[in-house]
Amino acid sequence: MVNTTIKTTKSQEIFAAAQNLMPGGVSSPVRAFKSVGGQPIVFDRVKDSYIWDVDGNQYIDYVGTWGPAICGHAHPEVIAALHEALEKGTSFGAPSVLENLLAEMVIDAVPSMEMVRFVNSGTEACMAVLRLMRAFTNREKIIKFEGCYHGHADMFLVKAGSGVATLGLPDSPGVPKAVTSSTLTAPYNDLEAVKALFAENRDEIAGVILEPVVGNAGFITPDAGFLEGLREITHEHGALLVFDEVMTGFRIAYGGAQERFGVTPDLTTLGKVIGGGLPVGAYGGGRDIMSMIAPAGHVYQAGTLSGNPLAMTAGIKTLELLQRPGTYEYLDQITQKLADGLLQIAKETGHEACGGHISAMFGLFFTSGPVHNYEDAKKSDMAKFARFHRGMLERGVYLAPSQFEAGFTSLAHTEADIHQTLVAAREVLCNL
Ligand SMILES: *Cc1c(COP(=O)(O)O)cnc(C)c1O
Repeated sequence: MVNTTIKTTKSQEIFAAAQNLMPGGVSSPVRAFKSVGGQPIVFDRVKDSYIWDVDGNQYIDYVGTWGPAICGHAHPEVIAALHEALEKGTSFGAPSVLENLLAEMVIDAVPSMEMVRFVNSGTEACMAVLRLMRAFTNREKIIKFEGCYHGHADMFLVKAGSGVATLGLPDSPGVPKAVTSSTLTAPYNDLEAVKALFAENRDEIAGVILEPVVGNAGFITPDAGFLEGLREITHEHGALLVFDEVMTGFRIAYGGAQERFGVTPDLTTLGKVIGGGLPVGAYGGGRDIMSMIAPAGHVYQAGTLSGNPLAMTAGIKTLELLQRPGTYEYLDQITQKLADGLLQIAKETGHEACGGHISAMFGLFFTSGPVHNYEDAKKSDMAKFARFHRGMLERGVYLAPSQFEAGFTSLAHTEADIHQTLVAAREVLCNL
């Protein structure tokens, strides 16, 4: 039996002070551990597959700064490239060749992209893509799916409460009804619901945006034919199909979900991995659509720090590392070992569970499943997940502090890390 009482004095001190300074003590909500209870740990440094907190505890990390750390934290080649770039300055606010380099890499990789615009976050990419969808089609309504996250812009903060699926009720105070009334929602994996929305809103829907593999309602995969069906329906109605690949881009395959599933959307948003841990987002698509963006066209979108040389450098080096042979085979192999192992152990220890993985993205729900959509995901036993999370944390494994987040592995995760994680999981699940 390992010692399950970890010392967290410094974490507690720092987080207590933070709560006085910043709302909830954090810069982004999930970090506060609200949905799993207890105190968050305060990080001191990260390296490879590990994090160290301010009290000196070491953890195996399956959050990977929410996705970017696919090569492992603080990869020496990324750090070296950044050191070199740093000498040339931190921001230009003017064109640099680094933007060309990353743009070429992204366009080469992502089937739907002929042109790309860099921004500073996934949120920004999704906001901009929505404006572009509307401008290109001259229509205002969009369809999104329950449980899919596209950043925190007003028009995406809509979920479907029971019976109000198409009413577009805002999720957050401060979001005007007028803004969300043109956001229609459907359950994920439900083509009939999408068809019905198109029938009810003929010639009014600019397009459909989705996570082609969901990571923000826990890990949910598209049913066979779902992505293809959306491609057909949108074509039929002169609407655009947008894959939000902020999470899946360069993670579930080098060319993202669109490469993996062979379905090419009209527009794609990216973020996370392409910044290699620095703030980057991007959106892109066909030349005809992208040429509408200012200053080539009239759809306005700008950014003081967009195309930032440090962010471009980290992105370029990260993609270079991912291009090396064996990358996705390795990611798939270790992630499968982890995901299968967790599921197997959960079942052996008498828990209802379902889950899976694609490449370096995985999930585990405490429900018998299957989980096809957000409603199914919500059947997962949250209280059990919270206890599981805490137990794993105490045994040196850092999982996302919410049932509704996918887990991430990286090239730095070793067989030994996976083994150690499964040993911890068995101990925790035996006593849950
Ligand atoms: C993380 C995420 C976003 C938002 O990106 P930020 O960089 O956090 O603004 C948008 N869409 C998806 C699918 C994401 O996973």
